[in-house]
Amino acid sequence: MGSLAKRIAAQRAFFNRDRTKPLAFRLAMLGRLETRIREQEDAILAALRLDLSKSRAEAYMTELALVYGELREARRKLRIWARTERVRGSLASFPARNFIYREPYGAVLILAPWNYPFYLSIAPLIAAIAAGNCAIVKCSEESVHTSALIRKLLRAVFPASFVYCTAPDTDHEELLRQRYDYIFFTGSPRVGKIVMRAASEHLTPVTLELGGKSPCIVDESADIKLAARRIAWGKFLNAGQTCIAVDYVLVQRRVKAALVQALAAEIERRYHKAEQRESYPKIINRRHYERLVGLIAAEKEVIGGAMNERTEKIAPTLLPEADFDHTCMQEEIFGPLLPIIAYDELETAIGEIKAREKPLACYIFTRDKRKAEGLIRKLSFGGGCVNDVLLQIGNHCLPFGGVGNSGMGVYHGRYGFETFSHMKAVVKNTGFPDLPFRYAPFDEGKWKL
Ligand code: NAD
Repeated sequence: MGSLAKRIAAQRAFFNRDRTKPLAFRLAMLGRLETRIREQEDAILAALRLDLSKSRAEAYMTELALVYGELREARRKLRIWARTERVRGSLASFPARNFIYREPYGAVLILAPWNYPFYLSIAPLIAAIAAGNCAIVKCSEESVHTSALIRKLLRAVFPASFVYCTAPDTDHEELLRQRYDYIFFTGSPRVGKIVMRAASEHLTPVTLELGGKSPCIVDESADIKLAARRIAWGKFLNAGQTCIAVDYVLVQRRVKAALVQALAAEIERRYHKAEQRESYPKIINRRHYERLVGLIAAEKEVIGGAMNERTEKIAPTLLPEADFDHTCMQEEIFGPLLPIIAYDELETAIGEIKAREKPLACYIFTRDKRKAEGLIRKLSFGGGCVNDVLLQIGNHCLPFGGVGNSGMGVYHGRYGFETFSHMKAVVKNTGFPDLPFRYAPFDEGKWKL
């Protein structure tokens, strides 16, 4: 048995001894995790700076604050979430009582990406622990410093028979060859397919939190300055390396010039010489840096586009003459490049979005409430905002997840707990009354209906 297989076997043994079932245990583990994270805050922020050059303020807002929010919610609500739920009986089960039990799966695998390496490793883990599972965590090999820190932190907090963080460079095939009771994957659709294929071998259920090209529609009634400010904020956070960032803008032609101008002014005001600023995030690695440089080079019209090869930073860049057949529209951008495409009729824009994979997010800027409502109902996407961006991720009362190519399953708050729980239906009956007509033989005329 390989070493990973041994770890999983140890977790199953721990789980099968019912050690993770008592709520007191789960709450204690969540408490321990929170204490350690609070103690290690400076080290976490330092690691995020080393990996992605995230400033303390940005890293706190987009990683730590979200983790604390999940911890607070789970610790406060766990007793309610985990309650056995009594539901109405049916005529067939009368007079039995009917219940739903929330049952943990067992030993689960959590696979995390590099762009929000702390938040996207720890938030699913909080949900897995709350639901009473053991977990193997695999962080990304790209976010070297944060992944190493998480590994150390989890080792210090938990026994390996409960939570084990495997090396970020663990062989992928070996990792996916193992049998888990659930797999929670955050990453690209390409690897999502590999994970799902491997999971099918053991009929392991999966949640896939994937990515894609998320559109932002700006219609002519929109407050253009507000739209520009919010789009720029959401797009250039983490230098565009955000799964729910606006990937491209679809703007009504009549207001396109005004939007481009407002975006350019916003960039000048808030991201002046960003590529030289310490507080502006870097591109994760040379491969992605070069990929993004290539996307800029392929465009004739570019606003911005300054880069710093040494620090691998790319300033916010507008691609104001982009179109659907351009290179930048063929794959998820995942960087600070913003294609802006004009449309004349809203129906055309809707058609273009529908012709592509279902996105993880969609944003709509308009003052016309009916138009916004119509778009929400016509388009399929994971989640989104009207007159804003990204905010759907920050509210743990909202389920977070994709649809179609952008993923399956949801988490955050109660939804995370539910994701890591099997809903077990139980009917509790007694011996009386024992109505005879349900029993064989079912000869003709038994029930004269
Ligand atoms: P990725 O798919 O390359 O990697 C994700 C994780 O899978 C990493 O831990 C990686 O080591 C591992 N991995 C890579 N190849 C594997 C294989 N063959 N078998 C098993 N595991 C493998 O994704 P990434 O580059 O780290 O992240 C970027 C992608 O993630 C983007 O598409 C982005 O949109 C998406 N994303 C989605 C969300 C979300 O919540 N939906 C959040 C962040 C990022």
